[in-house]
Amino acid sequence: MRLCRFDNDRLGLVRGDRLYDVTSATDLLPAYRWPLPAGDGLIANLERLRQPIEAAAAAAEPRAVSSVKLLSPVANPGKIIGAPVNYKKHQAEASADREINFDAEIKTIDKYGLFLKATSALVGPGEGVALRFTDRRNDHEVELAAIIGKTGSAIAHDQALDYVAGYAIGLDMTVRGPEDRSLRKSIDSYAVLGPWLVTADEIDNPDNLDFDLRVNGEVRQSANTAALIFDVAKLIHYASNFYTLQPGDVIMTGTPEGVGPVDPGDTMIARVEGVGSMTVSVRAA
Ligand code: MN
Repeated sequence: MRLCRFDNDRLGLVRGDRLYDVTSATDLLPAYRWPLPAGDGLIANLERLRQPIEAAAAAAEPRAVSSVKLLSPVANPGKIIGAPVNYKKHQAEASADREINFDAEIKTIDKYGLFLKATSALVGPGEGVALRFTDRRNDHEVELAAIIGKTGSAIAHDQALDYVAGYAIGLDMTVRGPEDRSLRKSIDSYAVLGPWLVTADEIDNPDNLDFDLRVNGEVRQSANTAALIFDVAKLIHYASNFYTLQPGDVIMTGTPEGVGPVDPGDTMIARVEGVGSMTVSVRAA
């Protein structure tokens, strides 16, 4: 199942290039009152909504996916988790490029651990990326994103993938500089998630997916998730040893080699095998 959020917070079921408005299925979500439960309500209730979503789609007139504005498929993640230097060839390029490392030693993920991006940075592909600090280098980082489906802490490695609701494409946009990465990667619109969530049952092996990113038609990054240093299950296991994972938490699993700058006016097209592709425009904030 491929689920998107579009236009004015509508819920869509995507089949091929067709989109079915299944917003009526969200009427079955619990009526929330303050304080809101942790995590994303839709993701937390995804399994029970499956059948109502299918029923709503059967009654809906399809429209072209290309006719809507795609928002982040996860509306309210409790956290967006990032994985630094999780591909060896990216580690090598970061170590060699002072414009990336700013004289800080590039360690490995087992030394750095993980980081967090502010949830206020989250946008969908239809919203685009609004660059700040355009006198500095703003880089694209295409990544496989895993979306957590149920609450878990200290999750065993061999059960970790059971906690995944689905997958999407993530762009971990970054302004290079000396500040802490949690700041540089948390600028509004610097966390792109889309084009939709593909439920985990449709992805046989998240650790063997081709993915790439083009800027203005030029291939900048092209890799396979088989080259991850910490694979998806290990990222979940590792993260949950520190903090409880909740429905809707997003793990951006790390970027491969080929990161590079984008400027206002550029167009990025990101693709992940088994998920799809998304087009993201870049502008000045
Ligand atoms: Mn990254």
